[in-house]
Amino acid sequence: MEIRRSGTQPSVRGQEEYFTGQVRLDPLFEAPSPARVRITSVTFEPGARTAWHTHPFGQVLIVTSGCGWAQSEGGPKVELRPGDVVWFSPNEKHWHGATSTTAMTHIAIHEARDGIAVEWLEQVSDDQYAGTSP
Ligand code: MN
Repeated sequence: MEIRRSGTQPSVRGQEEYFTGQVRLDPLFEAPSPARVRITSVTFEPGARTAWHTHPFGQVLIVTSGCGWAQSEGGPKVELRPGDVVWFSPNEKHWHGATSTTAMTHIAIHEARDGIAVEWLEQVSDDQYAGTSP
């Protein structure tokens, strides 16, 4: 058994090239090989969101606080609330983040293929984020 004690894993700021706005990543767990699951708590301040991206093996989000938005390419922007569990299929293009007025924290669970858990794409424009442009 191995316990990652609270306070032993430094928070990381979300990089500007992959996120818009203020995002904090709290890495929780990266499984040793041959397992490949990675678990991270992500906190988005109001207005903050990921860039468009995909995950090679898909992703689960568990919303733990606040209120957020998520969207898959070609679909509507949807609201996310604590307790909601979201599944994105492998290679499904999407983004997730806070609403414009309220912060949101979710736990993200995904697996890495050849060490890559996310394929980053273009940023989410302000119009896309507002839902006024697809
Ligand atoms: Mn994602």
